Amino acid sequence: MTGVESGPVGILKVAVDCPLRSLLDYLPPPGLRMSALAPGARVRVSLGRRSAVGVIVAHAEHSQLAPDRLRPIRELLDAQPLFTPELLDLLQWTASYYHHPPGEVFASALPAALRAGGPARAQETRVGLSAAGLVAATTGLPRRAFRQRDLLTLLAASTTLNTAQLDATRPGWRNSARALEQRGWLEFVEREASHPELPLGNAKPTLSPEATPDLTVAQTQAVDAIDAAAQEYGAFLLQGVTGSGKTEVYLRLVIRALERGRSALVLVPEIGLTPQLLERFRLRLAVPIAVLHSGLSDGERLANWRAARAGLARVVIGTRSAVFAPLAQLGLIVVDEEHDGSYKQQEGGCRYSARDLAVRRAQQAAVPVVLGSATPALESLHNVQLGRYRQLPLPRRADQAAAPRLALIDLRAHAVHAGLSGPVTQAIERHLHSDGQVLVYLNRRGYAPTLLCTSCGWIAPCTECDARLTVHRLAAQLRCHYCGAVQPLPVRCGRCGFAVRPVGQGTERVAETLATMFPDAPLVRLDRDTARDATDVGIVMDALLDGSARILVGTQMVTKGHHFPGVSLVAVINADQGLFSSDFRAAERLAQTIVQVAGRAGRGARAGEVLIQTEYPEHPLLQSLIQGGYEGFAAGALEERAAARWPPFSRLALLRASARGATQALDFLRHARERAGPQPSARLLGPVPASMARRAGRYHAQLLIEHPERGGLHVFLKGWLPEVEHLPESRRVRWALDVDPLDIQ
Ligand code: ADP
Ligand code: ZN
Ligand code: ZN
Repeated sequence: MTGVESGPVGILKVAVDCPLRSLLDYLPPPGLRMSALAPGARVRVSLGRRSAVGVIVAHAEHSQLAPDRLRPIRELLDAQPLFTPELLDLLQWTASYYHHPPGEVFASALPAALRAGGPARAQETRVGLSAAGLVAATTGLPRRAFRQRDLLTLLAASTTLNTAQLDATRPGWRNSARALEQRGWLEFVEREASHPELPLGNAKPTLSPEATPDLTVAQTQAVDAIDAAAQEYGAFLLQGVTGSGKTEVYLRLVIRALERGRSALVLVPEIGLTPQLLERFRLRLAVPIAVLHSGLSDGERLANWRAARAGLARVVIGTRSAVFAPLAQLGLIVVDEEHDGSYKQQEGGCRYSARDLAVRRAQQAAVPVVLGSATPALESLHNVQLGRYRQLPLPRRADQAAAPRLALIDLRAHAVHAGLSGPVTQAIERHLHSDGQVLVYLNRRGYAPTLLCTSCGWIAPCTECDARLTVHRLAAQLRCHYCGAVQPLPVRCGRCGFAVRPVGQGTERVAETLATMFPDAPLVRLDRDTARDATDVGIVMDALLDGSARILVGTQMVTKGHHFPGVSLVAVINADQGLFSSDFRAAERLAQTIVQVAGRAGRGARAGEVLIQTEYPEHPLLQSLIQGGYEGFAAGALEERAAARWPPFSRLALLRASARGATQALDFLRHARERAGPQPSARLLGPVPASMARRAGRYHAQLLIEHPERGGLHVFLKGWLPEVEHLPESRRVRWALDVDPLDIQ
């Protein structure tokens, strides 16, 4: 700090965990050379008056800041970089592609403890004797203090015992230890663990002898095609219906990657809903698997993250944020159910698509990425058409079951009782009679979506949202599914005092109706009210698998991941919600749901039957699906997208804003739009109120930006966002940019 240094002083570019949209410049701390401050290591820095944690991203020669404004970092937190160069690159790319503050992107890739500056390596507490303790071990303690003497002798004989080992071998040792510590004989020393802890419960030394099936021809072709390109980037769309053997293909590829000494990253949409997949990987792979998902405690997450980083777990299975898992020597990425919307961060933070980032990561790491689905996203099919992805079809079910038969049931032509048409009721009876199981799908939980006064027409509203309250009869509550508001279920109208009644169907009501119609058939319900975690899901699944349940009524949850070999009939209560939406993706989502739910039927020996209730059986979407399957639907839908210039034939970004007042969000967006000025290629549409404008007491509005190509969109956003940020209103509203939005309503 004497100012006599010669030559350029190094500058550290740091991604500091704060909402600023750029990297910040710092100087090395006194006494540390630049070479000790490797990119990828965390540092503690001053930010205004507070301290913050950041990650060194790069070294630079010069800074835009005046020399007297540059401050040295306060502390280097990692002697070894936490992030590999490849991951550093991916995180920077993420921040720039989604136009999100880099510090927040880096922070979101870390477990909470590390984000706060905690140690990257696992710690342990060693227990040892002081010099006086060592002397006392031979002479010291009276005969009565048996347990203390025992501990003293043990510690005198070993210098490497830690608290975990003592917990395991000497239950109750802590009392004795406390007594010895008070005498000044025993010491606790916090230090870095010599062996990072393993993720609990999956350290398997040997391969378990679970049967490994011989691959089908199509599976073999898929494995060989991907494996042949194992040393380079390639994107493969593994397309096959549920049960066609995709998971088996993933397993073989992961094993080959491991055999090459590489690691593998497997992304799944929701781990709670795919316990079977996890179980299968654990049974078949002889290595520890790290699991990363939001259902873990902070401690579990940290342990799994550390195991991956330390190379102890060479396979990571995880949900969205696991795309940033710190795997070294990456050899393969798998994205299961790649069409699933939960890969896209929808609220809060950086709104990235883990599927798209997985492809990017594979490119950077020069490894193959496998995108698997029975119902690929239209974007992915388009990438196949463009030659960017290679399609590998698995045309048949691996277990030889025939494809299910789909049929439409015209709700206008049949008597309907409590949402169930005559043909559906009869089919349920027939299948139950012939020992089948029945799955009834309905995308609405609760008892009924509306509580209505039959005298004055009053409908129970949410006071905070533009929404009706849903009747939950078992809980005797009205609940808002948008803001979570809860009220006791009224018996009389809030306005005129007349009796009220629930209108429409939810899973609770359909379950009640079916239980009355088929009292001998045990029924289970699967939705977010009955199943809060993986254990609940497991109970429902077991009941279906062991045959103790005959009917399953459920929401979207039943369409994901589960194998129900005994289900012979699937009934879709209402397909019409997706037919006339203003969201251009609604049709795609509906088709995917129908095909996914249909895929639950008819495993094993018999073909399944799928009945879809609709008031619009002549609708082209339903017709193309019935006649041409998902491929038929997708071909038509892509043509429509091309004609309307929706993605993937254009690129979108959505600027969303919300505020307490009715007009602030719209005003902010209007000014944001003005700042854009006239644009040659970018089209700005709006601002408009969101389709449900008031949610949880806030008014939501949005401005859509459309551009014919990706590069142009980003050039525009890069120039425009700083202007938006400097608008005075930008501080009075909450706003966020969503690049490649999934939901544009
Ligand atoms: P998906 O992931 O496409 O749903 P899976 O890989 O889970 O398909 O396979 C479905 C079922 O068929 C599983 O029970 C699996 O063990 C079995 N299976 C997969 N491949 C084969 C094969 N080649 N021969 C026999 N059974 C297979
Ligand atoms: Zn009334
Ligand atoms: Zn509400």
